[in-house]
Amino acid sequence: MSLLETIQQKSIAFVEDTIKLRRHLHANPELSYKEFETAKFVAENLKAFGLKPQEGVAETGLVVLIEGKNPSAKTVALRADMDALPIEEKNNIPYKSKNAGVMHACGHDVHTSSLLSTTRILNDIKDQFEGTIKLLFQPGEEKNPGGASYMIRDGALENPKPASIIGQHVMPLIPVGKIGFREGMYMASSDEIYLKVIGKGGHGATPELTIDPIVIASHIIIGLQQVISRNASPKQPTVLTFGKINGDGATNIIPNEVNIAGTFRALNEEWRENGLKKIIQMATGIAEAMGGKCEIELSRGYPYLENNPEVTRRIRKAAEQYVGKENIVDLDISMGSEDFAYYSQVIPASFYRLGTRNESKGITSYIHTPTFDIDEDALKLSPGLMAWMAINELTIK
Ligand SMILES: [Zn+2]
Ligand SMILES: [Zn+2]
Repeated sequence: MSLLETIQQKSIAFVEDTIKLRRHLHANPELSYKEFETAKFVAENLKAFGLKPQEGVAETGLVVLIEGKNPSAKTVALRADMDALPIEEKNNIPYKSKNAGVMHACGHDVHTSSLLSTTRILNDIKDQFEGTIKLLFQPGEEKNPGGASYMIRDGALENPKPASIIGQHVMPLIPVGKIGFREGMYMASSDEIYLKVIGKGGHGATPELTIDPIVIASHIIIGLQQVISRNASPKQPTVLTFGKINGDGATNIIPNEVNIAGTFRALNEEWRENGLKKIIQMATGIAEAMGGKCEIELSRGYPYLENNPEVTRRIRKAAEQYVGKENIVDLDISMGSEDFAYYSQVIPASFYRLGTRNESKGITSYIHTPTFDIDEDALKLSPGLMAWMAINELTIK
């Protein structure tokens, strides 16, 4: 039997266990940076495979090595994220979240359980490959500054340093059984913008005695859209969305201040910096011109995600061998963001998508919604596919 067939068979043979792992994680979700029980569970399982994980990396993250023959020949890294979201689950399933208001609505339970089974497969066949595979179980993907940045800070990409890193993410728009790839620019940088527009409140009937922050805020919101239409290059995908505006006055009360919150997304680090500068300049300028003030706070999010073309081509080829060419799909640019981007700034990286949709089973909800779920058939292939990709990467000189 070929190594590919061995891996495929193991992935299928372990599927009941992978599902069990996934359902345990799904029922017991934990928020970003609070993945204490999750980390314990992952550590227990790794130890049960006979491995010695390094615990406490980025506080609630883990790193484990699988050494093949000649372990110093080359190292390749695989990554899963482990955190859940502050969403109340609306699915009626036996493994529904037991933690009120917390839900694995982004599939990180899928990534973690898959990578556990990947680890098991690789450990079983470690005498059949050369080099080392480093597995990263990271916390805090969903919350700034991103668990990946802490993993890097704590040395997850050193000793041994991986030549490349691969990440997997569920995709409810892609049918189960299919895998999506994209070379180059893939996901956006994401920064949060908080504007406090300060005026001078008063009676709604005497606007001449006030500085109306509601009107100033309205001008700012409209004005800032021109940063996108006039300052961003038309060739440069970019988004500015304000999803929250709060001016606590009344029909006859002009409030003292208005708070606005939004997100700015870009696919180019230079434009990201310039865009943010323009936003600050315009918001403060408009407020001052109208007699008020605008205070701005930025919460810097993840950089944009660049899929290294060579790594992406190689893992795509590995996936073609694994699932057949007809099951490979091309991904479009996404304005979503992912902290896997931090790894892509340090070493060649590629982030691909695992199809989890199944309309015939009614599984169509998007990630970050209270009814998100996956077709668990995806778990038949996800562990083996990652193992196969990693082993392929190890063979590249
Ligand atoms: Zn998410
Ligand atoms: Zn996610």
